[in-house]
Amino acid sequence: SSASSPSPALNAAELTAERDRARRDYEELVRRGLSLDLTRGKPSPRQLDLAEALLTLPSGGHRAADGTDTRNYGGLQGLPELREIFSGLLQVPAAQLVAAGNSSLTLMHDSVVHALLSRLPGAERRWADEPRIAFLCPVPGYDRHFALCERFGIELIPVPMTADGPDMDVVERLVREDAQIKGIWCVPKYSNPDGACYSDETVRRLASMPAAAPDFRIFWDNAYAVHHLTDERVEIADLLALCAESGNPDRAFVFGSTSKITFAGAGVAFFGSSPDNVAWLIGNLGKGTIGPDKINQLRHAEFLRDADGVLAHMERHRELLRPKFDAVEAILSKELGGTGLATWSRPAGGYFVSLDVLEGCAREVVRRATEAGIALTPAGATHPYGKDPRDSTIRIAPSYPEPEELELAIAGLTVCVRLVATEKLLE
Ligand code: PLP
Repeated sequence: SSASSPSPALNAAELTAERDRARRDYEELVRRGLSLDLTRGKPSPRQLDLAEALLTLPSGGHRAADGTDTRNYGGLQGLPELREIFSGLLQVPAAQLVAAGNSSLTLMHDSVVHALLSRLPGAERRWADEPRIAFLCPVPGYDRHFALCERFGIELIPVPMTADGPDMDVVERLVREDAQIKGIWCVPKYSNPDGACYSDETVRRLASMPAAAPDFRIFWDNAYAVHHLTDERVEIADLLALCAESGNPDRAFVFGSTSKITFAGAGVAFFGSSPDNVAWLIGNLGKGTIGPDKINQLRHAEFLRDADGVLAHMERHRELLRPKFDAVEAILSKELGGTGLATWSRPAGGYFVSLDVLEGCAREVVRRATEAGIALTPAGATHPYGKDPRDSTIRIAPSYPEPEELELAIAGLTVCVRLVATEKLLE
């Protein structure tokens, strides 16, 4: 949800006074010589400490439930007991879920590469043999999705986000008309960066819409499936099941990982899809590995125990994260609420707050903040090719800094917003 405030009805004299106050505050900010960082959407050390016990596991030997010696080669699909734990959480039947290495981004990357080099189920040809390939990118979105596509020459087509997910009228029209559109990036729950959750209607339309490309795929990056910040644990509709019901069984590629559950660098990543897609991916993965790190999968299964164990563990993350998100909201409201100079998201989960400043101001706000020692994700990073046509979206990552540092940084950021906006309005 967005904190929208009416445009300020300040007269020129009042606006000048506001600008002068912002200038004094900014000078004071620069004098403090801060060195703060709001760029990193990663867990804090205290969050990582919550999973420290992993380093002592597995404690019960090295055998999986089915007797597999996890020290040895094999088991390309991943340990069944770990796939069981995440099956319901990721809305993928365990038999159709792959537990792989430490990064879901790697699985997304490899899925694209394999689609380029070996024909997807239902495809007429390899993507590498297509004259042109395009992906839809709901914006604001995740810069690494965009960078992955750019690296392979895949064209990025922005689609506006709404509170319910991408604007489905636009998505349906483009996907119906253009057979070269082969994919869409979706972060369906607590989206990066605006925290949006896809409505059931959005998911239903994605699953059932006609697509010109027979090999159209939804890259369903459910990175924040269990990353709740409130008592309301948001549930989204089951894309994979809806695709199957709609006669598009191969349309969904589901991704997830324990990167922000256990260790961001040493977790387990998942891929879920139709039986045909899973066979396609495993067949291709098998050319590059004889099997995943099953010892890490076993220690994760022992540590997390079951789906309730995952949710209980996420409650402990929430205890650390919630105060940080509350602090961001409180400071933004106090300093910018009712000014008409900015709106921002109030996410119920995930890792980010999206701050929208006046059109044409985001780059300058980031520049001013950098000059004052507050590092922000570059303006534009939330858009394909790094180009935010309105130059208004700034991504804030509150998870990593200590609370005191976070508060200083957000307060400093609001000074930059007031300064740049009032200067702009007086131009
Ligand atoms: N997907 C989204 C939407 C993310 O925000 C992130 C990390 O910030 C990732 C994927 C990375 O996932 P992984 O660590 O599993 O590669």
